[in-house]
Amino acid sequence: MTKSEREHLNKVASMGCCVCVRLGYGESPAEIHHPRSGQGIGQRASNFDAIALCPAHHRNGGYGVAIHAGRKAFEDNFGTELELLEWTKEQLNG
Ligand SMILES: [Zn+2]
Ligand SMILES: [Zn+2]
Repeated sequence: MTKSEREHLNKVASMGCCVCVRLGYGESPAEIHHPRSGQGIGQRASNFDAIALCPAHHRNGGYGVAIHAGRKAFEDNFGTELELLEWTKEQLNG
């Protein structure tokens, strides 16, 4: 991982969970999640394509809440990985 990739990931993580922020829950401490849907521009997964999710929305929250418990149900509730990724990039670009 390059220095700029690491700095980018730090910035993403420091924004807090993107789902919680969008729902108005505030900036929950978050972990990095790499969207794996290769759709869109067809680029390989990179460390610049990362979103921040709190433990509940990432892996602990159960089906319909945690993205790793079932991506389809998560996306139905909170938006697709791609939408969250675009939103994250917009926030970072101010
Ligand atoms: Zn969250
Ligand atoms: Zn993940």
